[in-house]
Amino acid sequence: MSKRQALKTLPVASASHSTIHSPMEILNYQFEQAANLIKLEPNLQQLLKEPYRELHVQVPLKHDNGELKIYHGYRIQHNAVRGPYKGGIRFHQDVDRNEVLALATLMTWKTAIVNIPFGGAKGGIAIDPTSLSSKEMQALTRGFTSKIDLIIGPHRDIPAPDVNTDAKVMAWMMDEYGKKHGYTPAIVTGKPIALGGSAGRSEATGRGTVFTIVEACKAYGIELSKATAVIQGFGNVGSFTAKFLRELGCKVLAVTDVKGGVFNANGLDIPALLKYVQKEKTVVGFPGSEPISNDQIFYTKCDIVVPAALGGVLTGDVARKMNCRLIAEAANNPTTKEADEVFYKNNVPVIPDILCNAGGVTVSYFEWAQNLQQYRWTDKQVNDELSKTMRQAFQDVYDLAKKHNISLRTAAYTLAIDRVAEATRLRVL
Ligand code: NAD
Repeated sequence: MSKRQALKTLPVASASHSTIHSPMEILNYQFEQAANLIKLEPNLQQLLKEPYRELHVQVPLKHDNGELKIYHGYRIQHNAVRGPYKGGIRFHQDVDRNEVLALATLMTWKTAIVNIPFGGAKGGIAIDPTSLSSKEMQALTRGFTSKIDLIIGPHRDIPAPDVNTDAKVMAWMMDEYGKKHGYTPAIVTGKPIALGGSAGRSEATGRGTVFTIVEACKAYGIELSKATAVIQGFGNVGSFTAKFLRELGCKVLAVTDVKGGVFNANGLDIPALLKYVQKEKTVVGFPGSEPISNDQIFYTKCDIVVPAALGGVLTGDVARKMNCRLIAEAANNPTTKEADEVFYKNNVPVIPDILCNAGGVTVSYFEWAQNLQQYRWTDKQVNDELSKTMRQAFQDVYDLAKKHNISLRTAAYTLAIDRVAEATRLRVL
């Protein structure tokens, strides 16, 4: 049986799965599929599904106009059996307990797949920070840090940037934590380089995505140097993915961003496009290209499709009209359950998000390790280690998929759950 044929025997979802909507429901569904495959004991299933600890805090903020408003913040620690909790901090109006819990759980599986010694956590504040001044952002960050101080620590729980938080926010968190505990750069990752941030962190997710694409191309018989790709999203992850794919000879036919997209049947000039975007803040209007919409980009005939913007964009309807050989989920959660089934049926392998975009957290691990040792790695050291980690993770997932005749996604969950379950048995049973 060929490798592509092996994907055919996908376990088909039952009718009830069409009613699965929330991120936590999807995660639980994927968890159960994998846990049943490895016959995980029911008590361990419950232990690994539920979070270890949840903290819900009040974050009062005195705005520049003198008004005091109360916001709600969360830090949810899902699992730390393989190492300290790890996960980002998100400032967004949609943040709530369910979202944070789903993201915390996802981090446990992500860190286990790339086999780095961390567990999973996530945090956030329910606030729209886009209209906050820098002074308000700093006060909000410091207030939140002091509230979650009692459960974070360089050997306990290490936050990082996420939606609407960045290196500057991490610098404030490190400073606030340091007031009480002394100089502790390893308390957060994603810091500015001058404060102990790691070389290679900004490129890490795109670079890691491309390492998994390289391995997938080998596994599924795609010659990357002659391949074509399209990428939705040209921000941090999408632009670096485009850059590294092009450097390997792959032609990037189309990219889009929130404002629209560009297409060139002979391949876009990516170095020139990167310069254009720096100036224009959008890909739209790039000389020597034709316009393409965010809907149309997925229907482009090509070898590799990389969603690198939003969740839920690859629906069943979209999947049925696509004409590609590989999907690399650089974005979180871009594929609906229905689309996943279509891809299986059509023998289109999907590198799942929890593997594909784990390069970021992997380099966060390198940052933490450097901080603990008060030592600096070069770009080359970071990239070599990232390459080893991502390629090994792909191989582990792929081997498991082949062995059990399952999708890469189910294999990724199976691998992660198995690793966390093994550590749990050794520590507590
Ligand atoms: P970013 O903000 O730098 O870039 C997002 C890109 O998506 C931009 O080009 C933006 O214009 C585009 N976009 C936004 N809304 C869009 C829409 N409606 N239609 C089409 N394009 C749209 O974000 P990023 O850091 O590159 O993250 C991209 C994805 O990768 C997200 O799903 C994120 O969760 C995931 N991810 C990022 C990292 C990381 O290290 N940055 C790590 C893991 C996963």
